[in-house]
Amino acid sequence: MSEQIERIKCLIIGSGPAGYTAAIYASRADLKPVLYTGLEPGGQLTTTTEVDNFPGYPEGVDGPTMMVQLQQQAERFGTEVRIGMVTSVEFSEEEGGIHKVIVDNTKEIEAETVIISTGATAKYLGIPSEQRLRGGGVSACAVCDGFFYKGQEVAIVGGGDTAAEEATYLANICSKVTMLVRRDEMRASKAMQHRVNSMKNIDLRYNTEVEEVVGDMVVEGLKMKNNVTGEIEEIPITGLFIAIGHKPNTEIFKGQLDMDGTGYIITQGKTTKTNKPGVFASGDVQDKEYRQAVTAAGTGCMAALDAERYLQGIEAKVTT
Ligand code: NDP
Repeated sequence: MSEQIERIKCLIIGSGPAGYTAAIYASRADLKPVLYTGLEPGGQLTTTTEVDNFPGYPEGVDGPTMMVQLQQQAERFGTEVRIGMVTSVEFSEEEGGIHKVIVDNTKEIEAETVIISTGATAKYLGIPSEQRLRGGGVSACAVCDGFFYKGQEVAIVGGGDTAAEEATYLANICSKVTMLVRRDEMRASKAMQHRVNSMKNIDLRYNTEVEEVVGDMVVEGLKMKNNVTGEIEEIPITGLFIAIGHKPNTEIFKGQLDMDGTGYIITQGKTTKTNKPGVFASGDVQDKEYRQAVTAAGTGCMAALDAERYLQGIEAKVTT
């Protein structure tokens, strides 16, 4: 390691709503947090346009602006925000132990507490027309962006619980929702499938995949392919929602923290505690169900409070 080892009370990894909210609370509690932004400063919200469902913004706010404001709020109370990527960690097993964290493969930090808010990344199909039109009608979040397609015809890709839930949500707003499921059955629970089937304006297409998203600057249509017959059909749509799952950003914590089968960090009960003392997780990295900016912010607050109480507990043990 090239530099001297730095010792801090509270390290926050990630700069989405969870990380910044943890930073606001931790800095106000005098934990002098250092926050590393990761590769995508501001997190997933910087890839959305208008955020209309975060309380306190009656006129809505665009995602990048909101993230800058959250950063400024955290910095106002003394959070040190640094651009950098945590590349490896070595969490202590012991109560009061020191956690070692390496940033950008070079800098070593020793932290008394660590708050993980590294989020999750939506999966995309990866085809060129889809990538080109991200932000121009292709979205991975119906709850965030569905409202912009009120009364219009849209399509959604996926057959899991998320796709089923989002298709039903969209069907209540849009005039028609074409749902593309790549197999001859859905992965979603029977109850969710029932909800999809009960919506008259959802056109459910099994064995169907996206061939091409049509449009130059904005989505104008969709070419879809029946993967059994090979038939290609084009439909007019203004929005395409991709709901084929998320990948939690937990690669560097594997083998050290308890995770579920899909890699989400498991937290204890109604807390943000992980299986390592002094290590907490907040936001989408530990939540595959709600995944909203406001719920991420809520758990960020909880993580800072949990970290503060943990440090107080250690201090009390030392002084008695
Ligand atoms: P899932 O992994 O459960 O489902 C992903 C879906 O996308 C599957 O239908 C899959 O098809 C399809 N898919 C994957 N890749 C592609 C591709 N390249 N092209 C086309 N289709 C593709 O993800 P979800 O986000 O739906 O759910 C994640 C977890 O969260 C699940 O455990 C779910 O139960 C849970 N959840 C629960 C909710 C609730 O209870 N209210 C709400 C939302 C999520 P295939 O089946 O062929 O692999």
